[in-house]
Amino acid sequence: MLNSHSQPLVLRGTGVSAGLVVGRVVRSPKSTAQLPDFPIQPAQIEAERERLRAALNESRQQLNNMQERLAAELSEQHAEIMTFHLMLLDDPTLLTNIDAILRTDLVCVEQATIRAIERFSHDISQKNNALLRERAGDIRDVGARILHNLALPAGKETETAPTNDAEPHVLVAEDIPPSEAAHMDPRLIAAFITAGGSRTSHTAILARALGIPAIVALPNGIDVLEPGTIVALDGETGEIHVNPDRDTIAAFLQETDRQKAWLSSLLAENHQPAETLDGYQTCLVANVELPSEAMTVHERYNVGIGLFRTEFLFLNSCKLLTEEEQFEAYKTTAETVYPLSVIFRTLDIGGDKFLSQIDMAHELNPFMGMRAIRFSLHRPDLFRVQLRAMLRASAYGKVRIMFPLISTLDELIHALEHLEEVKQDLRRRRIPFNETLDVGCMIEVPSAAILAERLVKHVDFFSIGTNDLVQYSLAVDRSNPDIAYLYQPPHPAILRLIRNVVTVACEHGKWVSLCGEMAAEPLYTPLVLGMGIHELSMSPVAIPPVRHLVRSINMYDAENLVAEALRCGSADEVEALCRKLIAKACPEMLPHAKKCPANGQAPAERLNCRI
Ligand code: PEP
Ligand code: MG
Repeated sequence: MLNSHSQPLVLRGTGVSAGLVVGRVVRSPKSTAQLPDFPIQPAQIEAERERLRAALNESRQQLNNMQERLAAELSEQHAEIMTFHLMLLDDPTLLTNIDAILRTDLVCVEQATIRAIERFSHDISQKNNALLRERAGDIRDVGARILHNLALPAGKETETAPTNDAEPHVLVAEDIPPSEAAHMDPRLIAAFITAGGSRTSHTAILARALGIPAIVALPNGIDVLEPGTIVALDGETGEIHVNPDRDTIAAFLQETDRQKAWLSSLLAENHQPAETLDGYQTCLVANVELPSEAMTVHERYNVGIGLFRTEFLFLNSCKLLTEEEQFEAYKTTAETVYPLSVIFRTLDIGGDKFLSQIDMAHELNPFMGMRAIRFSLHRPDLFRVQLRAMLRASAYGKVRIMFPLISTLDELIHALEHLEEVKQDLRRRRIPFNETLDVGCMIEVPSAAILAERLVKHVDFFSIGTNDLVQYSLAVDRSNPDIAYLYQPPHPAILRLIRNVVTVACEHGKWVSLCGEMAAEPLYTPLVLGMGIHELSMSPVAIPPVRHLVRSINMYDAENLVAEALRCGSADEVEALCRKLIAKACPEMLPHAKKCPANGQAPAERLNCRI
């Protein structure tokens, strides 16, 4: 029932897992407010230690169970998150601190644990490394688990989700730790909203993998989202309608139904070629972050992988992956998508993605700093291990390799030298790999786009990363919502850069892929096709609408559109031309085609609605 006293209100956070949901708010029930708080005598210390040992054992058992469940239901990579929690349970700093507080403060073990966890998470949240700071949430999560087990008789699992109400629930919390997210049953939790969090947190990764729409980082907190409040949310845009009126709810539900029907009609075209009306074929492929996605991509969308962001394997693990571990991940992916191909991109860390396993120096401007290929060339030990694993996997499928963020010819040459030396070593040891595998470089920096003519001789293909190319060309931080209006993929300057890359590649008989979010936006499909891009790589859910659009237009019109667009002075003018073409060729697409969000997923992920 709608609360008649409540006023409708619209909040906006960061959408990290797409989907439309209307549901009732439940708040995370955990609270440390009622935990035991009593002084102890020195003679009681041993008994408190014994209680702690029992709670740790119970916690270990629960985490092991959860890890098995995640491995079975999601993937080994997702289960790996629990390994980090298991390690924390045995962390000597934490245990020594709890013990020291027991002895010096003479308080019960619950209070000793709370204080030790607070210190530990405070220390880690002061670190320069952003990813490490995010792990403060994991520490608090482990602390909450220990406290819970101190309070409960052994064998009782934490229950965080509401269980017996048929209505969809929207879980609202200050933060949702990964172990809680891993427990979530999508049949009970329709979506979640948190005050904190970020797109690269483990919780966001799990939400996407579980298909639970999620919004994080609400600027003014979650106080207005009281239990029982009705919300209508969009996990892609981050928009939350609080106490929506009946018309808004009706519109949301109608939109959801419309999108569902639209999506199933598009999925029916999955086995049709991505070919224009006048017979020009293009290749649609997927961007993925984890090997577990390869199966969905292959089975559901019938495509290969145009960008495997390998850093997510590392972000999702508590340790640096060995060559064998990487090899297994790459080999499984290559085998899964075979006979289609997969492009593995070497590590792109730095910028907004950091590895807690490596202590990287604090930088004033990390997007301009030790990122991607710069990091790999700085750490050839890690780079070569990754190259070896990728090359070895190439014996098991159609593997391609590419280097991110190339900004100078020297960088490319050095990267290729490393690759050649690793190949030599494999040859010497008679370890099989594909001698003719394609090697490419990403074009994400204006200098590379302008100097494509010098780079082209050294590669088999280019892959244009418009997310970064727009960021660096227009000097606009791709993750800053306040300047998102400046983030303009169809800006004529960007089009000219892309055009140059394609022209150069074609002159040299090389092919070009485009793997930024621009490829996922149907509004821009005629533009990128008309520029002669050979392959479009995007979020898997964006493939059906883009395929539909390709099949609805003529290459002749797309080329004319580009000729006109290149004469425009602004992105708005270009966009108007795109809309005009789509209105004529594929009017049913217009309501779904909108501006590409600066930092988000493909707008088409809206189609992944759940209600
Ligand atoms: C890009 O920059 O367009 C790209 C695909 O790389 P990422 O989004 O991983 O930086
Ligand atoms: Mg990039």
